[in-house]
Amino acid sequence: MALHKGPEKQHQQRVMSVNPFYGEANPVGGMAEAPPTHRLPDAPLAPSTAYQLVHDELMLDGNSRLNLATFVTTWMEPQAGVLMAECRDKNMIDKDEYPRTAELERRCVAMLADLWNAPDPAAAVGCSTTGSSEACMLAGMALKRRWAKRNADRYPGARPNLVMGINVQVCWEKFCNFWEVEARLVPMEGDRFHLDPQAAVELCDENTIGVVGILGSTFDGSYEPIVDLCAALDALQERTGLDVPVHVDGASGAMVAPFLEPDLEWDFRLPRVASINTSGHKYGLVYPGVGWALWRDTDALPEDLVFRVNYLGGDMPTFALNFSRPGAQVVAQYYSFLRLGREGYRAVQQSTRDVATSLADGIAELGDFRLLTRGDQLPVFALTTADDVTSYDVFDVSRRLREGGWLVPAYTFPANREDLSVLRVVCRNGFSRDLADLFLDDLTRLLPELRRQPHPLTRDKEAATGFHH
Ligand SMILES: *Cc1c(COP(=O)(O)O)cnc(C)c1O
Repeated sequence: MALHKGPEKQHQQRVMSVNPFYGEANPVGGMAEAPPTHRLPDAPLAPSTAYQLVHDELMLDGNSRLNLATFVTTWMEPQAGVLMAECRDKNMIDKDEYPRTAELERRCVAMLADLWNAPDPAAAVGCSTTGSSEACMLAGMALKRRWAKRNADRYPGARPNLVMGINVQVCWEKFCNFWEVEARLVPMEGDRFHLDPQAAVELCDENTIGVVGILGSTFDGSYEPIVDLCAALDALQERTGLDVPVHVDGASGAMVAPFLEPDLEWDFRLPRVASINTSGHKYGLVYPGVGWALWRDTDALPEDLVFRVNYLGGDMPTFALNFSRPGAQVVAQYYSFLRLGREGYRAVQQSTRDVATSLADGIAELGDFRLLTRGDQLPVFALTTADDVTSYDVFDVSRRLREGGWLVPAYTFPANREDLSVLRVVCRNGFSRDLADLFLDDLTRLLPELRRQPHPLTRDKEAATGFHH
């Protein structure tokens, strides 16, 4: 080992120059910071400090892959993530600046028009949205405007209404509230947890802008009978002359049924179906948020709702609530379409549904539960406790499952089945058979303790899961 001397005189005053960006290297430098959480801090933080603070707080969020409450995609391939990162600076509305992104959106609409059997795909019109909620607003606005034009002599004055099952997703309540349309809801009845075509027709009158059919219901994963609904409305037209269009809310099912039940008629094959929406970020297999709205033809989408933006020296028609919106999700949707094709989507949805049906069967075998649905339509099923189970309820199960990280909502059904409380399990791509087995193991392990409870323990059921559809 060499032997060194202390500093020489001429070196004693020498210092290094530090770029201000290097400040974060001081391990105690950040410790004097105490940024407020609810007011814009006065001074900046080092990026590493800011990153770590935000990252650490978010660790307390649930693990999205164990979230069996959500329909929204929680896993995509790394390549999709890279593409999305490459596009995160592109604004979807800047059609002129990003013409290729605009073109990919156009191709997605064309692919969906074909997938949903538009009689003339070239005549179909559609757009991307932030999700099904925005798509449903747009579809509802088109229905309302068409009705208003047909009834120009009576509207304003007459009050428009929209007929649907009480099991509709909350976006339809929003639509009716925001756009001043009366919501006419068909209640549940006995073991019928979704729309009954005859009951829907009975609610229709000359002020009905349309009927919403859901493929499938968020409450239990079941498909509503769209064929029967259209037939019942055909009969109504024959009887009374009332011509009521149907909108299909295919938030989930419009990306499941075309692959797994190609012969099921629910789409533009039915002439009464005017428009369809889906969530690209549900079984479309894209991270949030992207949705799609399509109309059978330009008659179904009144021209006066359409706005135009610059596009390659001309203009491009647009229909949206937002102006700026990220392009990345639309690009990711195109990637998924290209990557999987029909065969790939079929394989992905089939394996997800296989997981759902086998998990449902496994739960049924435990003996403590009664299945309302079996996961054989949407890969989603709802269950409740068996009649002889009195020591615990679905809210207790939901709460105890959280201990293992599993997020499974428990909630009470609406009219006329407020007496019924259920758990709902949403299976998605990425919830593998292995994870499903682990879930079933955890549930099985909890049962002896639950059975030993003196009575159900969850007092505030509203607060128990804080779940909204
Ligand atoms: C999820 C869902 C919606 C809302 O869709 P978002 O994409 O979350 O806005 C609407 N209808 C149904 C049937 C749904 O499942």
